[in-house]
Amino acid sequence: MKGKIINVAGPVVKAKEMKGAKMYDLVKVGEEKLIGEIIELKEDRATIQVYEDTTGIKPGDVVVNTGMPLAVELAPGLLTSIYDGIQRPLPKIMEKAGDFITRGIEIPAVNRKKKWEFVPTVKEKEKVGRGDIIGVVKETPIVEHRIMIPLDIEKGVVENVEEGKFTVEEPIATIKTNGQSKEICMLQKWPVRRQRPFKEKLPPTLPLITGQRVFDTFFPMAKGGTGAIPGGFGTGKTVSQHQLARWSDADIVIYIGCGERGNEMTEVLRDFPKLKDPKTGRPLMERTILIANTSNMPVAAREASVYTGIALAEYYRDMGYDIALMADSTSRWAEALREISGRLEEMPGEEGYPAYLASRLAEFYERAGRVKVISNQNREGSISVVGAVSPPGGDFSEPVTQNTLRIVKVFWALDADLADRRHFPAINWLRSYSLYLDRVKEWWEKNVGKDWLDLRNEAMALLQKEEELQEIIRLVGPDALPPIDRVILEGARIIREDFLQQNAYHEVDTYCPYKKQYEMLRIMLKFYRLMRDCIEKGIEFEKLKNLKSREMIARMATTPNEEWEERFEEIEKKMEEEIRRLK
Ligand code: ADP
Repeated sequence: MKGKIINVAGPVVKAKEMKGAKMYDLVKVGEEKLIGEIIELKEDRATIQVYEDTTGIKPGDVVVNTGMPLAVELAPGLLTSIYDGIQRPLPKIMEKAGDFITRGIEIPAVNRKKKWEFVPTVKEKEKVGRGDIIGVVKETPIVEHRIMIPLDIEKGVVENVEEGKFTVEEPIATIKTNGQSKEICMLQKWPVRRQRPFKEKLPPTLPLITGQRVFDTFFPMAKGGTGAIPGGFGTGKTVSQHQLARWSDADIVIYIGCGERGNEMTEVLRDFPKLKDPKTGRPLMERTILIANTSNMPVAAREASVYTGIALAEYYRDMGYDIALMADSTSRWAEALREISGRLEEMPGEEGYPAYLASRLAEFYERAGRVKVISNQNREGSISVVGAVSPPGGDFSEPVTQNTLRIVKVFWALDADLADRRHFPAINWLRSYSLYLDRVKEWWEKNVGKDWLDLRNEAMALLQKEEELQEIIRLVGPDALPPIDRVILEGARIIREDFLQQNAYHEVDTYCPYKKQYEMLRIMLKFYRLMRDCIEKGIEFEKLKNLKSREMIARMATTPNEEWEERFEEIEKKMEEEIRRLK
């Protein structure tokens, strides 16, 4: 089916004679067959967003409708890949076309020639249903790719399944379904804008352990949860996202880079492949898919990239994996939305963003979750989504931050003042929150310590009290404070400097095991309470200032992971002894 272009405005093209076209059909525009997607339809007139530079495209050029929606390819070979927003393999495109991507280039998302060793996990005559795993492939040295019955085959019987080396397009099994024999290969497709179905959503009761104290202990993320990390330039969004990618206890990482500043994506492309997976020592890329939009790529591809990313995440979720998906930054994505909306001459909403900004953001975050997947094999998987937001000037009142806040359950507010004072991660403890605190509490209490939430809340209260006291200090100076308040300040300082601060570049401190986090907090608060006791017994505050155990507490974070338990015991003994001597 062919239509004709009547108008071109940057990435937006209008065409007539598009009878039979559907919304979100994929089209090929002009002689170069640029990839585009129908985003508006009025009778036979279609508005198309084009994923490539439209220079030279003019009225009268043809538009061919493929009749298919924009879809991702799903098969072994996804991991380690770097894609653009519509799943074209970036390094291959660059190889073929140089740095500036030539238009209309067609390279399949997954390698068609590579042979994979397929090992069946079902036998002939076995009954199978949609979503069931029928075999596995070692996709990378650290990830097993599980081949599932496509979701459009309701149920059937395995007629034939073969072990051996196959390309993604060669048949690996035949399933008898509805009286027909259907060949199955490893390659499947899924439309990116459609959420992949699941059986049932599960409550977010398992924490996503990140090894970052301020996240895990203060503002915890749940597996399948949603979070946002807003912050102005230089406050630590990228470092935080990298830390999450490296250390989260997820199986698969999907990182969507929406081209922050000019060369930033190039940085991600350079740095990410160098990261090591802490669990195995192998390259992190072996369990990662990177989606990158460099700033010279058209805005429409940036708009599509978050859907491409989450569709890939859903596929691995269905295999039974926990996915951590990072989008950096959703502000750049929203700007793409705004630009396209402007070209469509839609009525602008707040700050020029389209009125549907909120619903689009919601649609994206809604695809997170811990679920029981579709299959009779009883599997669970999860997608946790963390979006960085980069509000202009670090002002959180702008529409993208505000709309994100209404959706996500965890808010990690980065703070320019803290970053200036080199308090990293620069997460503002008074503005941040996690609505999962009560959901993950049980896990912590069962696996770590019964008083986990109490300790966390006690520390929070101490920090809030500190904030109030700061007000007083600003008015009357520190010397006017009674000793008990000075102890509160000292306790809060310990929490801030020795617990909340965490150096991403320190060999040990970069990752803090959850048990160690708990013990650190428990001992610090015990120290604080002992100091309080002393004051209540009339001991001078000055005498508490030079305790050896205070120094030891400051070194807890960097105590190597093999020996922290032993060292912490020593610290606890030492402080009890020192305080006893004072009394
Ligand atoms: P953004 O992406 O928000 O512009 P970055 O993530 O690049 O900011 O962080 C800016 C700088 O802050 C980093 O180069 C680093 O020096 C410092 N930084 C941020 N987070 C940490 C951390 N957890 N530990 C140590 N340094 C950090």
